Amino acid sequence: MISYKLGCERGHEFESWFASIAAFDRQLQNTLVECPQCGSHNIEKLPMAPAVVGTRADQRQADARSKHKELTQKLRAFRREVMENSEDVGPRFAEEARRIHDDEAPGRNIHGEATAEEARGLAEDGIPFGVMPKLPEDSN
Ligand SMILES: [Zn+2]
Repeated sequence: MISYKLGCERGHEFESWFASIAAFDRQLQNTLVECPQCGSHNIEKLPMAPAVVGTRADQRQADARSKHKELTQKLRAFRREVMENSEDVGPRFAEEARRIHDDEAPGRNIHGEATAEEARGLAEDGIPFGVMPKLPEDSN
């Protein structure tokens, strides 16, 4: 939000708030700014340093961003731990998880990739597995 001190042709002075400098310029150009005392649209900006204040929404967004960053770091650490303490079976994950579940393969922690269909199949058969969320750096 930005506040401007404005004045009309008759010398009335008032203060008005706008979403941004661009929003103010647009409204002034389209004569949407009106003097509250006489209704004149002949408005000009009076010399004053504009005051810019952060809204609560800005603060909430900043909070959400830092929370998201924190969460991403936690997930990254968690994933690293899982990777280091389990065997990478790559795309054979679903098959291997099933074999371990059926005691056809030695019981151990594994990680790898599974298609949505494979994951659904594992869930349907009651085979426990976790899904690792995709992290921002994964798309690099
Ligand atoms: Zn006026």
